[in-house]
Amino acid sequence: MSDKNKKKKTALNVMKGIKSPSSLSAEAANKFLQHKKKKLEIDEIVAGIFKGDISTLSSAITLVESNLAKHREISNQIIEKCLPKSGNSIRIGITGVPGVGKSTFIEALGMNIIKKGHKLAVLAIDPSSEQSGGSILGDKTRMENLSAQKNAFIRPSPSSGSLGGVARKTRETILLCEAAGFDIIFIETVGVGQSETKVHSMVDFFLLLMLAGAGDELQGIKRGIMEMADTVVINKADGNNIKKAQLAKAEYQNALHLFPPAESGWIPNVLLTSAIENLGIDDVWNSIIDYKKMTDKNNFWQSRRQNQAKFWMHETILESLKSDFFNNDENKKNIIEFETKVINGEINPFNAAKELLDNYFNKKNS
Ligand code: GDP
Repeated sequence: MSDKNKKKKTALNVMKGIKSPSSLSAEAANKFLQHKKKKLEIDEIVAGIFKGDISTLSSAITLVESNLAKHREISNQIIEKCLPKSGNSIRIGITGVPGVGKSTFIEALGMNIIKKGHKLAVLAIDPSSEQSGGSILGDKTRMENLSAQKNAFIRPSPSSGSLGGVARKTRETILLCEAAGFDIIFIETVGVGQSETKVHSMVDFFLLLMLAGAGDELQGIKRGIMEMADTVVINKADGNNIKKAQLAKAEYQNALHLFPPAESGWIPNVLLTSAIENLGIDDVWNSIIDYKKMTDKNNFWQSRRQNQAKFWMHETILESLKSDFFNNDENKKNIIEFETKVINGEINPFNAAKELLDNYFNKKNS
């Protein structure tokens, strides 16, 4: 084929004198035009992200957070293009009950990290958004010093949808932040429920913030959460609290020894901090660095990331199926109908579910 002809064949050139086939509907043409436009936008957005442009990064995250199918389509393409430049960060999960000092601690650790020359993104997963659309994490003015830093980027939790959906959005946001050059990522969550498990599944290192003498029940800390921690931090180890904090440290250290050895080979430690006085904060950072060195050497760092990627593939499938099933208009009607039948005892819940699913998948396949 001559160069001239080759040129004619590309979809981006206007082909003078060739009639559109009648089957090419206005809608399809529109789609094509939109697609062309999208492509330009996507390349611009990706270039902006690679340059570390914060306003572009924010817009891309807004696309990731949108529930509109057309935005998802664009954000998926952006993420795909960002993937080669992502992954080069230390992802750190931070959890603890409200009031333990998470914001203060993140501000202290964050400022120390930035002073060392790093770029830090602080993201959040707020489990309260699932029910109420409200937030435990985002309401107050937080991290004022950190937010004024040019090498810090703070983004509140995506604010709507199921916890699974919110977590997926945060996971994708991590990739975008990494592509924008952020080499340290914090994911903050509140120690009150399922969200720790989600955060644990997207970070390299998991920090659990505790208070001395508050009692485990009061702190909502379940055994499972303790077991996930790579480092337990007892915060507010200052003033009259120091003795209590030292005692708590010994107790938690004993408790951690009772857990089976971690696959990483890392022995979880307990550290004392005063976020407000910036004490012990560097010890936390040194722990993270020691962990990285050790797990780089024994390959656990890499294998944890690989397992997480597999996990997120499955999570995304489940989340997409769920959202598609419950947002399908016909299904919505059927579900209401079947709910009534189940309530009236006309059908048992398992058969109702089976019929709804059969109906949904048959429609999909037809
Ligand atoms: P969050 O709800 O976990 O984000 O906690 P905040 O960071 O908002 O802190 C809750 C309260 O504890 C605030 O009044 C802080 O000033 C205080 N606080 C945080 N860290 C420390 C600390 O290390 N020592 C003391 N004494 N108070 C702290």
